[in-house]
Amino acid sequence: MLKIAVQAKGRLHDDCVGLLNDSGISITSGVRMLLSHAQGFPLDVLYLRDDDIPMAVAMGAADIGIVGLNEVMERDANVDVAMELGFGRCRISLAVPKDSDYNGLEWFDGKAIATSYPKILNRFLKEHDIDAKIVEIAGSVELAPAIGIADSIFDIVSSGSTLVQNGLVEVEVVLKSQAVLVVNRDLAPEKLEDLEHLKFRFESIKGSRGMKYVLMNLPENAIESALGILPSMKSPTLLPLAEKGWYSLHTVIAESELWDKIEQLKAVGAEDILVLQLENLIR
Ligand code: ATP
Ligand code: MG
Repeated sequence: MLKIAVQAKGRLHDDCVGLLNDSGISITSGVRMLLSHAQGFPLDVLYLRDDDIPMAVAMGAADIGIVGLNEVMERDANVDVAMELGFGRCRISLAVPKDSDYNGLEWFDGKAIATSYPKILNRFLKEHDIDAKIVEIAGSVELAPAIGIADSIFDIVSSGSTLVQNGLVEVEVVLKSQAVLVVNRDLAPEKLEDLEHLKFRFESIKGSRGMKYVLMNLPENAIESALGILPSMKSPTLLPLAEKGWYSLHTVIAESELWDKIEQLKAVGAEDILVLQLENLIR
């Protein structure tokens, strides 16, 4: 049976449980548990600190795991990254005090940089031939310049508000990260088969996220313009209504452009527009 390692608690935990649930796999959310057995798929779930997940998978304590790409890169773990999962997005960036005379990467020459990601930073500095001092600290990296233990920081940024609060500006994005599915490199064939099934479910969830199923009624003379507004769909479904000269058009629209498309469809004569949640998109 496959064993998956997920974060026991923290920023990735709920999205991991959500992804499994949406894939028809229910698990007992395990704040006080180390291991549980899932329902709906032959899967054991191991709850770990995110730092430990890459190594646990590399060593075979778990077959697969869900963890931030940043942790995979920092631990330099011997695992395959099988899939990006689309949540836990963040970037790992260099940031400097906002009133500094920053003029490009050479600014960091001779400077001290505080971080919890020394390996990723070291690789980046080497690549760019910058000679800086790395000060490794475990938490609250953003406070380091203010308390005088470093000139700048290298840390996770998502909205950027923590940087602003601490008088810092992001000057260089080094790594774009998100949660990924990591896989042990020596999985037994029967486990590989289960993994394919699991990946198939994850892909179908990923594909449907951010998409809406949209139905509308259209007079016959509006069909051509409506199809022109939906160029991304190969072939939307068109069904005749009982009322002559009217059609029902079914299509899938990305949430990001939903309202824009709906305005345009209304303008060409679409009526009674229904927007529905899309659960799975299986291609
Ligand atoms: P653990 O107790 O498991 O070691 P942690 O405190 O190290 O947890 P979290 O803060 O829960 O880690 O973050 C887990 C992951 O979430 C990060 O490694 C990163 O990939 C991702 N993430 C996304 N956005 C952010 C953010 N704004 N701050 C921190 N991590 C983020
Ligand atoms: Mg951690």
